Amino acid sequence: MRLGTIKFIKAHGTLSLLLISFIILAFELIFMIVNYLSAYEALNSTLTARAKEHQQNFYFALKMTYRNMMQMSQFISNNEELNQLFLQGKKAIEREGGGSGGVEAGKARQNLLKKIKPAWDKLTKEFDVKQLQYHLGPGSLSFLRVHTPLKYGDRLDHLRYMIVDTNFDKTARSGLEIDRSGSALRSVSPVWAIDPATNKKVYVGALEAGTSVKQVMPLWASSFKVNIALLLNKSYIKKITWNKYIQQVLKNNPNIKYYVEASSSKDVNTILAAISIKNDYKTDHIELIKQQSKCFSVYYFPLRDYQGTQDKDLPPPAFVLMWEDASNLINNFHSIIITNIIYAILIFIIIEIILVWVFRRERKLATAEKNALIDGLTDIFNRRYFDHLLKGELSSAKRLNNPLSLIICDIDFFKKFNDTYGHQAGDKCLKKVAAALKKKVKRGRDCVARYGGEEFVMLLPHTDLKGALYIANLVKQGICDLNITHVNSTTEQFITLSLGVACTENLTEQDDLLGVADRYLYQAKADGRNRVVSTDTNH
Ligand code: GH3
Ligand code: MG
Ligand code: MG
Repeated sequence: MRLGTIKFIKAHGTLSLLLISFIILAFELIFMIVNYLSAYEALNSTLTARAKEHQQNFYFALKMTYRNMMQMSQFISNNEELNQLFLQGKKAIEREGGGSGGVEAGKARQNLLKKIKPAWDKLTKEFDVKQLQYHLGPGSLSFLRVHTPLKYGDRLDHLRYMIVDTNFDKTARSGLEIDRSGSALRSVSPVWAIDPATNKKVYVGALEAGTSVKQVMPLWASSFKVNIALLLNKSYIKKITWNKYIQQVLKNNPNIKYYVEASSSKDVNTILAAISIKNDYKTDHIELIKQQSKCFSVYYFPLRDYQGTQDKDLPPPAFVLMWEDASNLINNFHSIIITNIIYAILIFIIIEIILVWVFRRERKLATAEKNALIDGLTDIFNRRYFDHLLKGELSSAKRLNNPLSLIICDIDFFKKFNDTYGHQAGDKCLKKVAAALKKKVKRGRDCVARYGGEEFVMLLPHTDLKGALYIANLVKQGICDLNITHVNSTTEQFITLSLGVACTENLTEQDDLLGVADRYLYQAKADGRNRVVSTDTNH
């Protein structure tokens, strides 16, 4: 490992660890957000799919109900015997001045009722049928209500648009109508009969078979496993002639916006109070609400009546409200989120443990490697590192033909210093000298090392003898300036250095740079110490 790397790990290890941890945390946060959004999206699409499915089921049930009503009205309207009685009634009314007619019309009505009543009573007991009514055209004049036979002869031109239309175009149709008796699902068939007078097929009137939403709602709700309610718009209710009961409801609750026409559950008002539905229920809508400890998924969609299917500009008079317990789905969603958070935390902890372990190991290795290269006392490079470096710098200088200088220095009379001030003071002095030497070299590739004992070396690449001498003198002066008292020195009263300087430029191929510098150092000692000796000073 390079010393730079070692130093970096030592100096920035904790910072790097924090930075990596922060990046992991940021990634985990992004992962959790993405996860939350996709789980939320999945929940939403499940709720939407369920709402769609319930809506489709509702329309399917509606269609089947229309088909049932249609089958019944078609079947009865094809009974020639019954049709003859209806035709007799029609003719009698025409003779007897219209409206409910007179005695003859009454007779035909009674005969028709007698024929049809036993089968009708059976049907109403066993199946969801509620109304069976014969109407005469044009428009709608009630001839016979099989379900309430005492009431007849009234005009329904502005309530039974389906009858009016069938009497006009003589074709069958189905649809939803809201009138005095509530929301009805009806099918109307044209009634034809062979007129005995002319032996020709003539149009008699319309036969309507119907049931109420209220009646079929429990069956639908239990089949779809969802709560269903049919709600009517208040303004629509007011427009039609409604029964006293509903008028009473509206009077007692002036703030009511919707009248609950039919509901499979008593909770409908609590649900209505909790959802954000206001005056607009013209579009499909889904929302989640909380009721005590449960979560409900609520959806509603507009329902058009027969007139609305003819004229799309008419506002829908009613809407269907459906709701179901979605607690399981929500709990699942929450547990997915919580599980992911737990996983994210666990993964983070595991990664952190591994990271801390790796960083500690690296730091230990870095410390061990540093110890192998750095002198423990003076904190500068040791001889081992210097020897290795010298080899490299020598060959590099030779290859590139660059000058390489070396300064070797030795503290004067250091034995005496130790003897005078003790070893501890000696160690302190060595540290100070090392630090002072280090300060004097500025270039990145310059190297100061402790060569051994109180001897230091300075390796200066790209430096000629002149430059090296400049540094050596700077160092010599720098040590003097430390002013470390040394009374037993015979040179000065403070610590001094002797230095030998050599440069490759001034050497032959055979000369050994270190050996030459060492020789100059000896000479400096011999010449009286506290001096710099080099090739220059030697000549
Ligand atoms: P000269 O001027 O000729 O260099 O004399 P000197 O006394 O400095 O040289 P000598 O080689 O006789 O003694 C060197 C002394 O340096 C011997 C030893 O006690 C001391 N020394 C070497 N290493 C350490 C060290 O790590 N700590 C201390 N306190 N002293 C050391
Ligand atoms: Mg020595
Ligand atoms: Mg010495």
